[in-house]
Amino acid sequence: MLDDALTWQPTAPLHPLDLPWLRQAGVQVAVLRLDLIDPLISGNKWFKLIGHLQAAAAQDAAGVISLGGAHSNHLHALAAAGKRFGFATVGLLRGHEQLTPTVQDLQDFGMQLHWLGYGGYRQRHQADFWGPWQARYPQFQPVAEGGGGAAGLIGCAQLLPMVTGQLAGLGWEDYHGWWLAAGTGTTLAGLVRAEAGAHRVFGALAVPDDHGVAGNVAGLLQAPGSGYELLDASRGGFAKADARLLAFIRDSEQQSGMPLEALYTGKALLALHQAVMAGRFASGTRLLFVHTGGLQGKRASVSVSGT
Ligand SMILES: *Cc1c(COP(=O)(O)O)cnc(C)c1O
Repeated sequence: MLDDALTWQPTAPLHPLDLPWLRQAGVQVAVLRLDLIDPLISGNKWFKLIGHLQAAAAQDAAGVISLGGAHSNHLHALAAAGKRFGFATVGLLRGHEQLTPTVQDLQDFGMQLHWLGYGGYRQRHQADFWGPWQARYPQFQPVAEGGGGAAGLIGCAQLLPMVTGQLAGLGWEDYHGWWLAAGTGTTLAGLVRAEAGAHRVFGALAVPDDHGVAGNVAGLLQAPGSGYELLDASRGGFAKADARLLAFIRDSEQQSGMPLEALYTGKALLALHQAVMAGRFASGTRLLFVHTGGLQGKRASVSVSGT
């Protein structure tokens, strides 16, 4: 039931990241491994779901209905949580029916799937979009794409106490800031609000500038631009992978033993590499890198574009 989901309090380990370019620059990085909170419910998507599940439970919802693509980390986490805690889930999918490893899991987890095509999916922001679905699934709580919106922010504040409890174990008294991949910027906004200016939050944008992330973050925080910084890490487009990125991911995985994927975490670490090489952080700087998960999507092959 939804109530059982809300009593679950996963915690993620904080691991030092050992890479030659960090050592050379004297920059210390510890990774909050959200990919390790659970074998199935992985990454930042669980924390973005918490506020939505709270709203669903408060309304005695019969289940949760949401939308995403055929590789969606969000739908994957939602379906896995539904199976684990015994609440019904419905997924509205972009495009035409196809079987990806993600879609196979969604089916196995018992999520009810509907394929909207591309045109149908594009209408998701229109006022009358949810009406027919709510008629079909009465009392199901609708959740925005990716688990975003104001409710998505709430659970992301949990990342802060998770880290403060583990700093002593690293021999750290404090840290200078956070570094994480941003798609909608919801997770980043949750951290910025939790930090309340105490530490800076750097968001490595996995999507190009024109996706409106800056506006989304400012809207979520109801205050523009303080306590955080957004940097372009998209490398030409969301889900675009070039040879340089793939080689960097391969090398980093070998050197650190930490798995990465090419959509979010790999791009965020490469953007950090570029910032460190550009001398952005003085020797002695301590940063928290959030591993936001997404590894389930790695099972589908990535197409390489450009160089
Ligand atoms: C969704 C996702 C993000 C982006 O999270 P936002 O809150 O939308 O910024 C980052 N990393 C991974 C692995 C994700 O699945």
